[in-house]
Amino acid sequence: MPITKVHARSVYDSRGNPTVEVDIVTETGLHRAIVPSGASTGQHEAVELRDGDKTRWGGKGVLKAVKNVNETIGPALIKENIDVKDQSKVDEFLNKLDGTANKGNLGANAILGVSLAVAKAGAAEKGVPLYAHISDLAGTKKPYVLPVPFQNVLNGGSHAGGRLAFQEFMIVPDSAPSFSEGLRQGAEVYQKLKSLAKKKYGQSAGNVGDEGGVAPDIQTAEEALDLIAAAIEEAGYTGKMHIAMDVASSEFYKTDAKKYDLDFKNPDSDPAKWLTYEQLADLYKSLASKYPIVSIEDPFAEDDWEAWSYFYKTSDFQIVGDDLTVTNPLRIKKAIELKSCNALLLKVNQIGTLTESIQAAKDSYADNWGVMVSHRSGETEDVTIADIAVGLRAGQIKTGAPARSERLAKLNQILRIEEELGDKAIYAGEKFRTAVNL
Ligand code: PGA
Ligand code: ZN
Repeated sequence: MPITKVHARSVYDSRGNPTVEVDIVTETGLHRAIVPSGASTGQHEAVELRDGDKTRWGGKGVLKAVKNVNETIGPALIKENIDVKDQSKVDEFLNKLDGTANKGNLGANAILGVSLAVAKAGAAEKGVPLYAHISDLAGTKKPYVLPVPFQNVLNGGSHAGGRLAFQEFMIVPDSAPSFSEGLRQGAEVYQKLKSLAKKKYGQSAGNVGDEGGVAPDIQTAEEALDLIAAAIEEAGYTGKMHIAMDVASSEFYKTDAKKYDLDFKNPDSDPAKWLTYEQLADLYKSLASKYPIVSIEDPFAEDDWEAWSYFYKTSDFQIVGDDLTVTNPLRIKKAIELKSCNALLLKVNQIGTLTESIQAAKDSYADNWGVMVSHRSGETEDVTIADIAVGLRAGQIKTGAPARSERLAKLNQILRIEEELGDKAIYAGEKFRTAVNL
């Protein structure tokens, strides 16, 4: 079934910044994808093409990327007439057309929009849901595994205005009996957390950060974790729920000093208080001894490889690479060789095509890593990552708080999938790190 039309336009993401939307038309109708965008982006991510014209959207326009889809990628793809079900052939063609290693020519945002819209067209042509098509492409076994929803209930770092350096504090309902029950537990804890934050830190503490979590103006991780532990307790889930953090430490790494600045949002931060990686590792260990932490993402900066290997040797919880690995097969290979981490954060726009994202997951599984499928802090109503998490049997998804529709859109999609699959799916639960083998 040929593609009859490819059309891109500029729309807006959840932070009000422009992003690329792509429509692909085949005989089965219109298939649409919208591209997300990060704030704490890794230096090694594929290139997100922005116009740079400061007089419009502060330089953040995506008109060049849109033009690249409408004038270059679209006509070439229609002419090439590749089967939309053959995702790897389409993605290979897109990569060749770009001709660079980091998609810097056409833009990873232009390429990803096309890649994901093609996947939806491929699923439609087969007459199957997107998650089933992705499961075929990845060759994952059945039954389907529904992911544990890591819910980012408290926002800090570059996603919030307060002083807190660590970016994300997530609750992990891994002993719930099902996805929907896990989501219910998370939603209940979230509401308790919101009231507690307001009671303790004033009304404005209930305001939310970029990913829908509360964002009180607190300074330390202990304060954040105490608040979350109290909310879990009030909701009646103490001992039945875990906690995860995304430190996003590249944001506060002082490259020259080789130290970590937990006061990075203060322009007068005192260098005498900056931490070495050993000191930061000790802080994680002491937090993990006091709170039920099961997963830490980006504990060290994206090129501080030595710190990662040091930490890996003595930790038994999940250590997730995000800025470190950037969903890139070469970086993942290096992290496997150096024993830097044991889980991949999978973000489709870090690498720019569905095929390469699937490959990143498979490479990670091959070394017994966990895989957590992830949104970006700048999101949209597009729910593709929900289908990717189920199709890949990832067992873990992080898509913000159980609040704000661009976050809940994905969680709601998994509720629909759960309903549709019934007993043809199982919940990853406590086995979220090894879900692919369940
Ligand atoms: P980002 O944040 O989308 O701003 O990069 C998410 C994350 O760091 O995991
Ligand atoms: Zn991260």
